Amino acid sequence: MCGVVGISTTADEAARLGYFGLFALQHRGQEAAGIAASDGRVVRQHKAEGLVSQVFEAGQLDALVGSQAIGHTRYSTTGAPGHRNTQPFLIETMFGPLALAHNGNIVNAAELRTDLLARGMGLQSSSDSEVMTLMLASMAGTNWEERLAQAMHHWMGAFSITLLTSHQVLACRDRWGFHPLHVGELPDRGHAIASETGALRTLGCTRMTEVAPGEIVVLEGDDIRHIPAIDPAARGARCSFEHIYFTRPDADWDDRNVHDVRQRLGRILARESPVAADVVIPVPDSSTPAAIGYAAEAGITYTEGFVKNRYIGRTFIEPTAHLRKQGVALKFTTLPSNLAGKRVVMVDDSIVRGTTSLQLVQMVRDAGASEVHVRVTCPPITHPCHFGVDMGTYEELIAHHRTVPEINDHIGADSLAFLSLEGMRTAIGDPSQHCDACFTGDYPVPVQLSLDGLKGQFEGMLQ
Ligand code: AMP
Repeated sequence: MCGVVGISTTADEAARLGYFGLFALQHRGQEAAGIAASDGRVVRQHKAEGLVSQVFEAGQLDALVGSQAIGHTRYSTTGAPGHRNTQPFLIETMFGPLALAHNGNIVNAAELRTDLLARGMGLQSSSDSEVMTLMLASMAGTNWEERLAQAMHHWMGAFSITLLTSHQVLACRDRWGFHPLHVGELPDRGHAIASETGALRTLGCTRMTEVAPGEIVVLEGDDIRHIPAIDPAARGARCSFEHIYFTRPDADWDDRNVHDVRQRLGRILARESPVAADVVIPVPDSSTPAAIGYAAEAGITYTEGFVKNRYIGRTFIEPTAHLRKQGVALKFTTLPSNLAGKRVVMVDDSIVRGTTSLQLVQMVRDAGASEVHVRVTCPPITHPCHFGVDMGTYEELIAHHRTVPEINDHIGADSLAFLSLEGMRTAIGDPSQHCDACFTGDYPVPVQLSLDGLKGQFEGMLQ
């Protein structure tokens, strides 16, 4: 996934604003964070593995002087975790310094990477974002917006990116519009760009608009220029899973409020898969709006069944199965007084590998529930994502090789129901503009390149 920000002001505070923006995007990536800032001539950066609050200690932000900055929170999709893959990527080019922060995944990265290597360039990471950075440096064009427009034609797949040069911040979004990107006016002159509107609101932004699919935005001082998309895709591919799980519920995206979408997912699920029960509980926090919707529609009491330790990151973001399992236990405890003797509907946003539900169902039973019915606010995830969401491989996806009754046996619930594809499409709306390939296998951009790619080859070469 990843979160990106970009700041352009007339005051020497861009890195600090970027830092606040990254705080609001921490949920989009917890493996690493970084900020690059420009004082108009020199670009300085600091990046490391860890949470935003761990990466930046007092003094480090002060060293990032300048009125323009970009930042990144990382959650690895392609490219293993590790310091070399942290972002922004910063390089020196013929045209001055260039830094890039990327959310997404391009499916032809392996091919583009081979092309760069064949042209004699060296790469230090396994990330598609480094490939994008180097390509930009070698594009034809008299300025960065021309070089960016050129490069965008070569990148197939998902990219919402921010770029920093000596005196500009640029941002762009792929022509399919996979992942969100927004721009807003800062309260004291200048503009901010961020993956989610919640981050812009944290910065006090007003007049927020979406960076349209295929559009380039150029910020210079407190000026802003929009370069409209030359060839937006006829069929858009906004990520349905952003609505279901990833985005913070305070985000507005494509004229929809994510909290509202999730309530609708829950309401439709209640109509599709009702069950006699005493209470509805969410798996906090991402399922809370959907559980409220389910309870309201079903006329069943909504209550809390879990207490979540908010100081533990999203368990899924821990990249190995063992750490993820440990994470669930650290993250949740139950409220037996709300659960004992009750028939419980447990609403969760998704079942991916099946690790979380298995443990949570057992915890609810241990707390004394007489029945546990699991309701999931999306269809079974049967296909991997090639556009920036770490869903795991076919092998890892439980719904790829098990039926719904078999998944139910695995997690040990009294009943299990997933939202239908139709129900999900109705709740989100405008299906022709959304990607739901993880549920259907209908990829909006051919993914053969990604499947056949050179993944893993690099990892063995540099340790
Ligand atoms: P699992 O235990 O593998 O079935 O994961 C499902 C849980 O992880 C759900 O409760 C979701 O809230 C969360 N989740 C689903 N997809 C993702 C993802 N791509 N990244 C991080 N967390 C996720």
